[in-house]
Amino acid sequence: MKLFALVVLPAVLFLASCGSPATGPGNSLRPDEWGHRPGPKGFSTVIIDAGHGGKDPGAVSRTTGMREKDLALDTAKRLQRHLSGKVRTVLMRSGDEFIDLDVRASRASGKSGTILVSLHYNSSGAGIRGPETYYWRVDSHGLATRIQRGMVAVSPSESGNRGMVRRRLRLTRNPDVPCVLAEIGYLSNASEAKLCADPAYREKMAQALAKAILDQQANGDAGTGSLPKPIYAPPSRPTDPAGS
Ligand SMILES: [Zn+2]
Repeated sequence: MKLFALVVLPAVLFLASCGSPATGPGNSLRPDEWGHRPGPKGFSTVIIDAGHGGKDPGAVSRTTGMREKDLALDTAKRLQRHLSGKVRTVLMRSGDEFIDLDVRASRASGKSGTILVSLHYNSSGAGIRGPETYYWRVDSHGLATRIQRGMVAVSPSESGNRGMVRRRLRLTRNPDVPCVLAEIGYLSNASEAKLCADPAYREKMAQALAKAILDQQANGDAGTGSLPKPIYAPPSRPTDPAGS
């Protein structure tokens, strides 16, 4: 995922802090800033965020040579096509462009009737594989559940299911809209890297992601299990230790 290794320019930090509502402990908070509410239903806009880009390639597969930033953008455009005509979509980036994580979070915030779905391809030890979905906010649990289920149904059974992970990342904690980060497959695993290099496989994943999003839009959290407990924690910062 490599979300922690990015260098953030002080100017960007300044802009992000000016553009975002105050969310530190002790400030008066709107509920939406924490996301302590049921998941959305009937939302009008999906922001599709292709991870990484430009100077940040993300993970690079030793098996196929393919870069996470390219696969994520390809999958984002496929997802946009599948959602076309059913819900308004916005691509966070439509080309090979670097956008800081705080800028992404800021761009997704302050918009009603909107959700954010960030697309990534994963990297870890060579034996680890399978789709994985990150979320933090209570209002993102249902969507994360649907997205994880959808990706697992496409992934061959031997590729495993890494499940849902509740983790405070800049794109799961900081936007003030429901937000989920999908790790579609591990580029560090040889067989899964080959699968992810296949456009037909990415097309099936994009279809599954679109279905998950539209199911959430139609049904809200129905059928996605009980909501997790709220966690009061400050926004994620680039200086946070990894995994915190
Ligand atoms: Zn990534």
